[in-house]
Amino acid sequence: MGLGSSTMRLIFIGPPGVGKGTQSALFASRMGIFTLSSGEIFRKEIEAQTDLGRLAQRYIQHGELVPNGVTIEMMAKRLREPEVRKKGFILDGFPRTIKQAEALEEILADLEMPLETVVSLEVNDQLIVDRLKDRLGCTKCGENYNSKSKPPTRDGFCDKCNSPLMVRSDDQPETIRERLRIFRENTADVVDYYDKAGLLKRVDSSRDPEQVYQDILTSIK
Ligand SMILES: [Zn+2]
Repeated sequence: MGLGSSTMRLIFIGPPGVGKGTQSALFASRMGIFTLSSGEIFRKEIEAQTDLGRLAQRYIQHGELVPNGVTIEMMAKRLREPEVRKKGFILDGFPRTIKQAEALEEILADLEMPLETVVSLEVNDQLIVDRLKDRLGCTKCGENYNSKSKPPTRDGFCDKCNSPLMVRSDDQPETIRERLRIFRENTADVVDYYDKAGLLKRVDSSRDPEQVYQDILTSIK
């Protein structure tokens, strides 16, 4: 990899708990490329109170999904920014549907910057259950801990406010399994789409983050 000479254009796909956030952060800090997630883009547009932001806000406030067209338009706007075009990007959480994938293809074709690789981060369900069940949250202030990697000073209690810690309801094994099932169901089409396009690379994400990072780099080359 030359010194910033290569522009990466990637998509990361992976269920919650697979380490997608960790890998995106590593790529962002080491390669200087942008991580674009629809959640983050919504937040920015809403903060800036752009027309698109206000539109998205209305749906979010009503607990509804932001429609495809709005999401795609926001993503297109960000992808057109000179900085992003120059340094490259990782898309995280987008596209979620074939429609979005097709729209993305058009946008990138217009910009003459086709996708390079779609990385599917994969790990077996039991491993994710094991990882997430170590996460603890403060019942009062919401501070997060991890019984293995970030334990509280006093077992079972928050360092900040001394309230009891609990495994978040989101992180209960049966909730995790259901979430993974839904994730696979929702992303199967998109994964298949990129597989057929010859862009998909599957990376075993059960190893330590540095190893996974190297494996992703290898899969891109
Ligand atoms: Zn607390």
